[in-house]
Amino acid sequence: MDKDVHQAFETLAIHAGQEPDPVTGAVVPPIYQVSTYKQDGIGGLRGGYEYSRSANPTRTALEVCLAEVEGGVRGLAFASGLAAEDALLRTVCRPGDHVVIPNDAYGGTYRLFAKVGEPWGMVFDPVPLGDVAAVRAAMRPETKIIWVETPTNPLLGIADIATLASVAHEAGALLVVDNTFASPYLQQPLALGADVVVHSTTKYIGGHSDVVGGALVTSSAELGERLAFHQNAMGAVAGPFDAWLTLRGIKTLGVRMDRHCANAAAVADMLTRHKAVRQVLYPGLPDHPGHEVAVKQMRAFGGMVSFRMASEEAAVRVCESTRLFTLGESLGGVESLIEHPGRMTHASAAGSPLEVPADLVRLSVGIEDVGDLLRDLSGALAAATA
Ligand SMILES: *Cc1c(COP(=O)(O)O)cnc(C)c1O
Repeated sequence: MDKDVHQAFETLAIHAGQEPDPVTGAVVPPIYQVSTYKQDGIGGLRGGYEYSRSANPTRTALEVCLAEVEGGVRGLAFASGLAAEDALLRTVCRPGDHVVIPNDAYGGTYRLFAKVGEPWGMVFDPVPLGDVAAVRAAMRPETKIIWVETPTNPLLGIADIATLASVAHEAGALLVVDNTFASPYLQQPLALGADVVVHSTTKYIGGHSDVVGGALVTSSAELGERLAFHQNAMGAVAGPFDAWLTLRGIKTLGVRMDRHCANAAAVADMLTRHKAVRQVLYPGLPDHPGHEVAVKQMRAFGGMVSFRMASEEAAVRVCESTRLFTLGESLGGVESLIEHPGRMTHASAAGSPLEVPADLVRLSVGIEDVGDLLRDLSGALAAATA
């Protein structure tokens, strides 16, 4: 491929890091299910591979592809999103360092800060990231990271990446963006000034609910080197088959996201007009507080929709009354999922500043036929409020 020609997202998603195999011509990188590599004399490595924790060709293909689709210089693939987050935090922070986190971060991210980071000496403050003055006020001399999630899980809050990047950089801190909900197809944080992008590739990037994985992508070669050192030293790498499944997922990310967005917009529209629904949280709705920022920094508004019912009981009944939307955790797969964050994904945030409303329902709108999805939800809302 001609590297001088700037290729578009969909082309990179299919080809970056994936030249046809020079020996066999295989158009897809094989699953190198191998731990070690023959050396041609001591230190005589063929292609730089010596042991698969340090590097594996299938994982390299994924890491190159991830870096290219996020517009970064270095991509690193981990065993899960949380493993990626942990490696990043322990690369950048030391005991006593401070991190600003969203006051509605993903529950697992919050748990990592509160139950692992804090006992280890890390200090953090949950802040509403939509309020730039509040973020500025939370900055301290020890602040090493502003940790952004946009849209947030599960409240679909929006943070202004470019503005927060300048707040971070003025204070000598890094801007980290968890881009899991948007995916690199809808949002390019590094181009907006972020230093590191975090992914749970388990979600939209993998896209088929068949693999757990995580990634870091950075715009700094120097930070990339330090992250790669920690990836190898700490060891929570993606295995070859997981890397291969994730690569396969990325190829169709663009077309899947187009359908996720269109279906989610139709679902959000139906919910706003339903009398049993108290509030719909979707950044594509003009009355969403982050709508203007979302228009500025996202190609479209994503496949996640949350809504509030009149009571916890009604929310639980809706979750238990769908047939096509599967009751389950996780998100971003081709199949639609429904869940009750307060009792499921975000149960670990109960009693914390990140507790989510008990009347909240979260949808991961899949790519099934939109008419079937709307009928299923209408039926569940009717059953739940009968
Ligand atoms: C799921 C998720 C994570 C954690 O990723 P795992 O792959 O489950 O470890 C992090 N951030 C967000 C926004 C998520 O949805």
